[in-house]
Amino acid sequence: MWRELAPVGRHPDSGGYRRYAWSAADLECRAWFRAQAEARGLTYETDRNGNQWAWLGDPLAGDAVVTGSHLDSVPDGGAFDGPLGVVSSFAALDELRSRGVAFTRPLAVTNFGDEEGARFGLACVGSRLAAGQLTVADAHRLRDADGIALPAAMESAGYDPDTIGPDPERLARIGAFVELHVEQGRALDLTGDPVGIASAIWPHGRWRFDFRGEANHAGTTRLVDRRDPMLTYAETVLAARREAELTGALATFGKIAVEPNGVNAIPSLVRGWLDSRAADQATLDAVVTGIERAAREYAERAGIDLDVVRESFTPVVEFEHALRDELAKILEGSGDTGRPVPVLGTGAGHDAGILSASVPTAMLFVRNPTGISHSPAEHAAEDDCVAGVRALADVLEGLACS
Ligand SMILES: [Zn+2]
Repeated sequence: MWRELAPVGRHPDSGGYRRYAWSAADLECRAWFRAQAEARGLTYETDRNGNQWAWLGDPLAGDAVVTGSHLDSVPDGGAFDGPLGVVSSFAALDELRSRGVAFTRPLAVTNFGDEEGARFGLACVGSRLAAGQLTVADAHRLRDADGIALPAAMESAGYDPDTIGPDPERLARIGAFVELHVEQGRALDLTGDPVGIASAIWPHGRWRFDFRGEANHAGTTRLVDRRDPMLTYAETVLAARREAELTGALATFGKIAVEPNGVNAIPSLVRGWLDSRAADQATLDAVVTGIERAAREYAERAGIDLDVVRESFTPVVEFEHALRDELAKILEGSGDTGRPVPVLGTGAGHDAGILSASVPTAMLFVRNPTGISHSPAEHAAEDDCVAGVRALADVLEGLACS
């Protein structure tokens, strides 16, 4: 399975993956998913929001155990973020069949669409729509960089966009959702464990800072006469780093838009996007408030107008304690370390986080030795991937088999 997926959407220069929602590469991944389902004799279906499902047992019976992840990628993403969960789900099903277990609950493998939000700027579109956390009207307003609307992109990929919307009947059939994912940090590498269980997803959000000054000629405007928003932006970036260190949060300016964006022009506008995350809400509030306060001070001193807009926000997601404890019990003593499986928080969002508002949800993480994610350098050792499959199979057996 890994070898089949490896070339799909990989850019020849960067070596990274560009599997954007509803693109040719995404459709190739989706065709692969369907072929995997059919090769195993599973009942294949696409739901009203373009998420893919492969069922063992009756999809309508209810109390189903569902496992899966996503196949799309960020720009120049790695091979593991998303696909490891989907591939491990099919491999775990194969493992359970070879163990000869009897299934007492329906089991499904899923591929949630547009998880990374690389094309339309909003993450987890497939699961958000299903869970009613993204309205149809807002989904219709999503545009990619070429101005193509989400419904048009779905339609040109052969999917009916008129059906998108909340899918409570489908979610009500899920008794438990388990997502396996490559770890996006080094916690497991530091503890020496191949597999961990998620405790919570940190609260996180995106804020847009608009710094407005005065465009002018870079060669004829004296320094003292300038109202240069780039300087205020740069000071704010440094403040974000300082505030993050002080509070123990994370704060990143990773995207910027400049007007007029000319080499020989003092900018009139610098628009920077802040991504911030923290283990708890109070810390997140403290870091963002601190950055905004600093930015306003710098702006006032330099004669710059500043607007700060919160563009998106996701509160803390605590995975269901009962299911989490059940996973810990199932995996107790199953590893090679002889220690309990570590339980860890994460700063990254996932479909599992979205679904946790509607169904009991849990996550398994597989060790990523460098901690690097959203990059071609993202990695997990083959032994650890196999340990992940075994852990997922144990969990599915514990939940879905007699
Ligand atoms: Zn992911």
